[in-house]
Amino acid sequence: MNYPLPTYFLKRSARSRHIRLRVEAGGHVTVSAPARATDSTIKNFLEGHASWLRAKVEYFKKIPEPTLARSQEKKLFESHKYQAKALAEHKLKQWNERYGFSFKKVAIRNSRSRWGSCSSSGTISFNYKIAFLPEALADYLVVHELCHIKEPNHSHAFWSIVAHTVPDYTEKRRALRDFEKTFGHLNTSANTNILIETNIRNENENF
Ligand SMILES: [Zn+2]
Repeated sequence: MNYPLPTYFLKRSARSRHIRLRVEAGGHVTVSAPARATDSTIKNFLEGHASWLRAKVEYFKKIPEPTLARSQEKKLFESHKYQAKALAEHKLKQWNERYGFSFKKVAIRNSRSRWGSCSSSGTISFNYKIAFLPEALADYLVVHELCHIKEPNHSHAFWSIVAHTVPDYTEKRRALRDFEKTFGHLNTSANTNILIETNIRNENENF
């Protein structure tokens, strides 16, 4: 039996190792795939999960979308991305005087599930919502990503270098999670929406 595939948003990432499907409230489907995955590999994967996917989309269509609609969020992103970038660059420079790590560039993204990330090629990315964070949390976020240049994991060694400049990082992590709850859309509990996750190795940041 062939089921038609729903409309989906395809995200390719050099860091993804597997194809991953995510269905969110409203029935929105996101497919994350490794940069090298061919279109036909992706299509085959989707077709292999078509009946499952259709059932989930039907189910999630009935769940109201979170408060901030996609279109609103897009506007918010467009109107704050430059401010967010200037802020992130300023803070990176400031904190990196203490660390002296080398990174290549800063990117600002409109993500629903991440505050930031740090790629192996040296790009540090932040959610545009950094522009809305209280100063101390923006500092923590910047230090967190900057330290991933040195330690691309959440090991003890990683937290100990974070602690050089943010000794109370445990409290900051908690405060950042609390902030998310007040800000419409950044759901850390991305897990509740991820329905198929093929064995991917911790692609989502765990703040
Ligand atoms: Zn991290």
